[in-house]
Amino acid sequence: MNASLAPAHSPFGGSVATRVLRCPASVGLVEKVPVHLRRSSAYAERGTALHSAVALLFDDNGPSLESLVGRTIGDYAITHGDVENSLRPVFTHITALLDAPGTEFYLEHRVGFPTIPGAYGTADLLIRIGNTIHVVDLKFGAGVRVTALTPDGDEDVINAQLLFYAAAARHSLREFFAGVETVVLTILQPMSIEADAEMVSSVEVGHAELDGFIAIYRTACEEALSEFPRLARGHWCRFCAARPICPAHTGPLLDLAQFVGPAPAGPNFSILAPPPAKEAYLQLLTGEERECTRPRALMGRNRAVVFPGARHLPKRRADR
Ligand code: SF4
Repeated sequence: MNASLAPAHSPFGGSVATRVLRCPASVGLVEKVPVHLRRSSAYAERGTALHSAVALLFDDNGPSLESLVGRTIGDYAITHGDVENSLRPVFTHITALLDAPGTEFYLEHRVGFPTIPGAYGTADLLIRIGNTIHVVDLKFGAGVRVTALTPDGDEDVINAQLLFYAAAARHSLREFFAGVETVVLTILQPMSIEADAEMVSSVEVGHAELDGFIAIYRTACEEALSEFPRLARGHWCRFCAARPICPAHTGPLLDLAQFVGPAPAGPNFSILAPPPAKEAYLQLLTGEERECTRPRALMGRNRAVVFPGARHLPKRRADR
């Protein structure tokens, strides 16, 4: 993992990409919440510990799975259940991927998003097998099922966090991506509140999809820093730190967002480079699908697949 002087969390980072796209006003509101009120929960501490445990398992001379029971990482002690129900299935799946000949990979790697200063995140796992890159995100929570594609009406929306990591990794690891034709976005969630939920969900995208996402995400970040960003509540509010002061939730009682807090230290967009792939994005807007690599759901479905927060795009069908 790269050493970095940047803060641990970016206001435009991958883990908040869906929220930024859906509710750009949340960026400024979160900045108004005192840091001590943004403390992580016990669930988050468990997730962080299990992510670290996976990185340890793939170290040279890393520990055995069994030896992790009882080990404390951060403030969390790993349990037998964590090993058997979460770490072992993830370890088995990743090991099978890494067993392919000629595989190269990065674990827990910091990547920076193009065209947006201060937008970065840590990709859990990046694997190159031949001309295909696998971008894998690990989800150890069980309360909310997260998938690479989320059904929304008659469409499936691609997970924004995965798109963020893929676009940022392509920007940060140019040699690693050289000659790559296909990017497979995958979420591994070994436990879920939903009975019989599959652990693995994936969607395949090409370079045009990543270019399109860069343009869309940059627009959302610009709006977040504008005078009147859009405020919109929805499922993305669940983990938003601004919820206690958000007028969309407290509005009928009290507009706590009017309290004056420190100004957000966001990036200065006046120094941004122009989007690198505007032509590719415009092709999407004009429906020139034959020029683009289509996202292909790897779940055996045949539904329209769209970018998050991009309902204005013409509907696009997933390949069978
Ligand atoms: S709680 Fe929801 S509506 Fe309010 S700022 Fe956060 S994401 Fe936006």
